[in-house]
Amino acid sequence: MIRIGDVLVSRGEGGVYGERTLAGARVWDPYRSKLAALYYVGTGVELTPEMRVLYLGAANGTTVSHVADYTEVVYSVEFAPHPMQDLLEVARRRRNIVPIMADACRPELYAPLVEAVDLLYQDVAQPDQADIAIRNCVFLKNGGTLVLMLKTRSVDVRKEPGEVFQDTVAALEAAGLQIREQVWLVPYHQDHAAIVCTKPGPVYLKGGTCNE
Ligand code: SAM
Repeated sequence: MIRIGDVLVSRGEGGVYGERTLAGARVWDPYRSKLAALYYVGTGVELTPEMRVLYLGAANGTTVSHVADYTEVVYSVEFAPHPMQDLLEVARRRRNIVPIMADACRPELYAPLVEAVDLLYQDVAQPDQADIAIRNCVFLKNGGTLVLMLKTRSVDVRKEPGEVFQDTVAALEAAGLQIREQVWLVPYHQDHAAIVCTKPGPVYLKGGTCNE
């Protein structure tokens, strides 16, 4: 990852969401992006130029644009029409973002558009976040990395955030994923945690029912 002093940056065309620049690089703000926050509070995953990424919950492309600055290609899945309009504009200005308007619960619908990826990144804020991630692991290469951004309040507001966190980790482990890192994203994002896993291989990933 590129840092100028203590500041995380990416190198690419700026002006995506009014981000600041520092010595010609785009400042990647941990308050605006959970992935940036992960690089401040934990280790995360090193993004590299040959990396292929499947990004679930692309929204208007804020984080997607930074990931695309570092990697080969970012398949970017979003199901809401309004953020998709912004995402299309971000994709128009970069050669390596593939916007896909689809429900991340239905990976079979976008399977023809996506190749095997090195990194699966998920930020969908849904009740069934673990299931969605497990389903989409079908695209993840053996040895690849899953980064799941968990919004505990989206899973179950009645449960303690710590309990939701542990349940989610347990579900990923039960599916055969190896947990590398699990960390809260405070002070940047309240009630959000990041879970970083490796897909060992070859392995049969169990579960992934999603709400249907
Ligand atoms: N990752 C974005 C960023 O850092 O710039 C922010 C993502 S926002 C928290 C969550 C996004 O996930 C929303 O835009 C929402 O529409 C999208 N989303 C939620 N459920 C989804 C699903 N099942 N399939 C596709 N997108 C979904």
